[in-house]
Amino acid sequence: MLNLVLFGPPGAGKGTQSENLIRKYNLVHLSTGDLLRSQIAAGTELGLRAKQLMDQGLLVPDEVVIGMIENKLKDNQSAAGFIFDGFPRTVPQAQALDSLLDQHGTKITVMVALIVDSEELTKRLLIRGRTSGRPDDQNEDLIRRRVKEYNDKTTPVADYYSQQGKFVAIDGIGSIENIFESICAKIDESVEE
Ligand code: AMP
Repeated sequence: MLNLVLFGPPGAGKGTQSENLIRKYNLVHLSTGDLLRSQIAAGTELGLRAKQLMDQGLLVPDEVVIGMIENKLKDNQSAAGFIFDGFPRTVPQAQALDSLLDQHGTKITVMVALIVDSEELTKRLLIRGRTSGRPDDQNEDLIRRRVKEYNDKTTPVADYYSQQGKFVAIDGIGSIENIFESICAKIDESVEE
């Protein structure tokens, strides 16, 4: 099984690269941001609570996203592998993911981090906001808060995987195709190990 964590701040290109990776490696895409947005669209209580935090650029509680991932792993028992996009975002989420995967007899293969500086992220997200319809992409203050939340809470997740020898960093600035090729090369290396 190939289980990939695609890591990087909002606007790093995780969603775009996920689409290509899913096709190439036949993976099930698990994006906690997408799962939360569908809860909001469905008007569930979880969605309403999550929206209040998402509208402020803050993370939703660990147990909420862990519960969603737990359900999705159960629903996709015959998957060839998973791509985790936007999850885990805290060390407790990473620990919970390890134990959930362990229960399914599998583990994370590699974490690939897309490195993009804050100015470029802000630029990209404001452009995305014109077409994505996402309210959190349309306000510069909110974008900066999301990047800060990432730097404060999510960066330690890279150390968590680094300690397990599973962390690789890739320059996230360049053409989509070149970045995709670099990611694939790293994945293929990890699978061979
Ligand atoms: P994203 O689509 O990954 O940029 O996520 C959009 C928003 O959803 C984030 O700013 C958070 O408020 C929330 N969110 C998504 N994934 C997580 C996660 N793993 N942990 C906590 N909050 C999350």
